[in-house]
Amino acid sequence: ATGIVWFRRDLRSFDHAALYHALKTCQQVHCVFVFDKDILDHLPRADRRVEFIQASVAELDTALRALQPSAGLVTLHAVATQAIPALAKTLHAQAVFANHDDEPQALARDAVVRGALAHMGVALRTYKDHVIFERKEVLTQQGKPYGVFTPYKNAWLKKLDDFYLKSYPVAAYAAHLAPCERQPVPSLHDLGFETTNLASLKLPTGASGGQQLVEEFFERIEHYHATRDFPGIKGPSYLGVHLRFGTVSIRQLAAMAYPLHLQGFQGASVWLSELVWRDFYVQILSNFPHVAQAAFKPEYDQIAWEHGKPAKALFDAWCQGQTGYPLVDAAMAQINQTGYMHNRLRMVVASFLVKDLGLDWRWGEAYFAEHLNDFDLASNNGGWQWASSSGCDAQPYFRIFNPTSQSEKFDPEGKFIRRYLPQLAKLPNAAIHAPWTAKPMELRAAEVVLGQNYPQPIVAHDAARTRTLLRYAVVKKPH
Ligand code: FAD
Repeated sequence: ATGIVWFRRDLRSFDHAALYHALKTCQQVHCVFVFDKDILDHLPRADRRVEFIQASVAELDTALRALQPSAGLVTLHAVATQAIPALAKTLHAQAVFANHDDEPQALARDAVVRGALAHMGVALRTYKDHVIFERKEVLTQQGKPYGVFTPYKNAWLKKLDDFYLKSYPVAAYAAHLAPCERQPVPSLHDLGFETTNLASLKLPTGASGGQQLVEEFFERIEHYHATRDFPGIKGPSYLGVHLRFGTVSIRQLAAMAYPLHLQGFQGASVWLSELVWRDFYVQILSNFPHVAQAAFKPEYDQIAWEHGKPAKALFDAWCQGQTGYPLVDAAMAQINQTGYMHNRLRMVVASFLVKDLGLDWRWGEAYFAEHLNDFDLASNNGGWQWASSSGCDAQPYFRIFNPTSQSEKFDPEGKFIRRYLPQLAKLPNAAIHAPWTAKPMELRAAEVVLGQNYPQPIVAHDAARTRTLLRYAVVKKPH
């Protein structure tokens, strides 16, 4: 039989569910990646993710050739819903193999492809690949999906065993990779995109880049629990973008962290928990797809957010890192310059947008979706709904982050702030978290002129907090 493996967010040639199943069941397996116009046409012309994908796809082509010299990756720049059925026809394939993607748009795309293939008598076979547990694999005792993290995590850990961590051996079946005409992978320019600053960031691409980051991170994983909250320290793994595009395997990562967790290494346990968060939000999106547009808890849709011109001005200031709160502004500079933002800062800026500026969390969600290299609908939505208290969170809504004390706590010496806001670099530690409280002499000595080279705060936190409590009062449940 002839099969096609359709690569999407799984850009690697090892431990790959769809590739494994195709190679095992078909004599001839063609591999294809579609630079999908339905997705690419809606993106800005300079997009680090497109550059990351392009480089990773080129590496995947090379990796497939290394498995089988006559093989390789067919790359198309087309509309996937048309291109995949057309290719199946040309190659006389009996089946197309792909890995699950449970984002609503991906499900809709796959339904169209499945329908078109079915017309020709071709099957679309899809597999779990990018999470350990998906859909309805981890359920409560009542057989319902979990909506709260901690019990989900306990059930996840209970269910985990070697079976779920086993990798899919691909190399053993490489002889089944079909010959592929040598055709260069389209360049960024061919795809209609411009080069970004990706090459200047320390973000290695492709499966080799993923591997490099994994090795570096496992050298420091034992300190993860202690360092992960401090944006000025190299604490986290920076693997988000690799997990997003599947240039690393989630099974490989979990299989490395799990034994360390069992041995009692706290850093590994906390990191494994983050991987569980990722699975958690993927199953939330899959089981409660309304979250993509609306609040997980419907009563939160009654909240009246700020609107009109003043709201738009506040939003612009947030996007541009001009709020007058240094940690918030440094974090926004980080995402704007690099496409990455430290997890602690994602929580701080998200809380600031919703609870200090009174803006709809979906505005922030959309901004992150456009700018984050590791943007993932499930995790991003989960993170924003967490910050707005409308999601799967056990914390009451009146827990409101104070942007100044977060700064004092997690960037005590202003190391991170100084990196991204050089105009504040000369302020003493005591003043850097809240420059408006600095003595005039301190500001002069540091060459900071509030309102000129650094903004005055656009809101007063205490007053904003009071407004938020009023705004949220509509969701109070009757006693
Ligand atoms: P590490 O700390 O090394 O964590 C390892 C991996 O675990 C991450 O790469 C990620 O895959 C997963 N992970 C960690 N924390 C979370 C979490 N809270 N929820 C789900 N998965 C997690 N993560 C995304 O991958 N894409 C997003 O679009 C995204 N948007 C977010 C928006 C907000 C408002 C918030 C508060 C969090 C968001 N996160 C998102 C979660 C988290 O901030 C990032 O996964 C993490 O910062 C990525 O950096 P890292 O790879 O160095 O993480």
